[in-house]
Amino acid sequence: MPAPKVYLVGAGPGHPGLITLRGLECLKQADLVIYDKLVSETVLEHAPPGAELMCVTELGAHHVDRYLPVQRALVEAAQKGKCVVRLKGGDPFLFGRGGEEAEALRQANIPYEIVPGVTAALGAAACAGIPLTHRSHASAVAFVTGHENPAKPESALDWAALARFPGTLIIYMGMSRLSQIIHGLVAQGKPADTPAAVVQWASTGLQHTVEAPLGELGSAVIKEGITAPAVVIIGPVVSLRKKLAWFEQRPLFGKRILVTRPRRQASELAHVLVLLGAVPIILPVIDIKPPADWTPVDRALARLAAYHWVVFTSVNGVQAFMERLMIVGQDVRAFGTAKLAAIGPKTAEALEHYHLKPDLVPEKFQSENLARILKERLKPGQRILLARADRGRDLLQKELAGLAQVEQIAVYSQVDAVAADSPALDYLRRGEIDYIILTSSNIARALIRSLDEPCRARLESGQVKLVSISPVTSAEVRQMGFSVATEAAEATTKGILETLVRLEDRKK
Ligand code: SAH
Repeated sequence: MPAPKVYLVGAGPGHPGLITLRGLECLKQADLVIYDKLVSETVLEHAPPGAELMCVTELGAHHVDRYLPVQRALVEAAQKGKCVVRLKGGDPFLFGRGGEEAEALRQANIPYEIVPGVTAALGAAACAGIPLTHRSHASAVAFVTGHENPAKPESALDWAALARFPGTLIIYMGMSRLSQIIHGLVAQGKPADTPAAVVQWASTGLQHTVEAPLGELGSAVIKEGITAPAVVIIGPVVSLRKKLAWFEQRPLFGKRILVTRPRRQASELAHVLVLLGAVPIILPVIDIKPPADWTPVDRALARLAAYHWVVFTSVNGVQAFMERLMIVGQDVRAFGTAKLAAIGPKTAEALEHYHLKPDLVPEKFQSENLARILKERLKPGQRILLARADRGRDLLQKELAGLAQVEQIAVYSQVDAVAADSPALDYLRRGEIDYIILTSSNIARALIRSLDEPCRARLESGQVKLVSISPVTSAEVRQMGFSVATEAAEATTKGILETLVRLEDRKK
């Protein structure tokens, strides 16, 4: 059996953690990913950096049948020898035209693998707290499409059979025809007081559920403004939601939070936000690049053991420094007996990742504290190396200059990264962001530089709130004319999250 060229992979219902391990393995080796619009962006980040990402809407969205171009694209890319992942919302073989795609591949003689996914119904059931079966309430489940292929002669659903179905009904793609569906079922004898619910954006921070007896579900849905994507769940099991709901109770549920850190660190923060129930929107406002000139760095690395202290002020600094050390052919032994200082626990953790234990981590993570503690430890004339970004605060250099021989090297540079047409800015312009997380004064400055008038207006009105990591970052924000809604009690991202959770808790 030849190795597969195309993987039809279920991405799950929306929560980025609900793809299977096998799905991730496939995604990680893709050259080309053709994904459905409903696939979470965070899942796409697992594709290799060089992989081509293509949304199906790019493949002739206006075509009468846009799925033929998808099938063609799959076949053509595989024939060119690419490893293709067709990433589909939910499960590939449930209402996703995965069957047709596999048929097209078989016809073209292209080997494939099919990786199942958590279908929307299962995501909705779990996250709305509605068990689809229950020994006292339902022993069968039916997955039904509310949107039949109009070209199929027997297109009308058999409402009589569905109304009689002895179990839970789940209707996909039913929102545009909801009133006909309800009418069809009730007219054929399904009691109008059967418990029912609609779950929109199931498993994501935007999940929205309405519950009503079947006969009143249509008006409840209109009242709540629920539209696709949503599934309808009909059956006595729906009444268990009152007892079992859990998803909406998470601390930051539904809060849309703009994450402005460089991409490498943004994903980690976004992951934690998802677990807290929030909807992270990633907009890296700065990008980390190599410094303009490696010469001063390489010179310092060549005589690293001659420094008494090497000071790191960020995770990025540690990573850039250590990667360069390896590139120039050295390893951790190059530090000799030099002592190491880290500005905070995350920077310390980054050093420990390279098996280096910092000798000094101040209790309050700020340059001022680091300077104060270093001063106490320094002996006159000692040599200090500060590994830092090309832009940032000069405080350490200034504070220590009189006491020691301080040398600063830029091990990475920070460049503004926001494109004016970024979709995240559109959310901001529409006021669809609750909080913006600012994890350094550089990031605060870069964010504010990249805002146009409509975005600024949302910040000024207080509709979108700025959350700052530390007093220094807050001061920077205020100096630029904006106010800070809340500041972390401890200057770490964990501190920011705790502060946000407390703030939201107080509102409840
Ligand atoms: N193959 C997919 C279904 C694709 S059809 C699966 O297995 O889930 C698209 C329909 O799926 C939508 O109209 C909606 O009914 C449902 N759907 C997809 N994602 C959803 C979500 N996050 N919440 C609720 N319904 C969703």
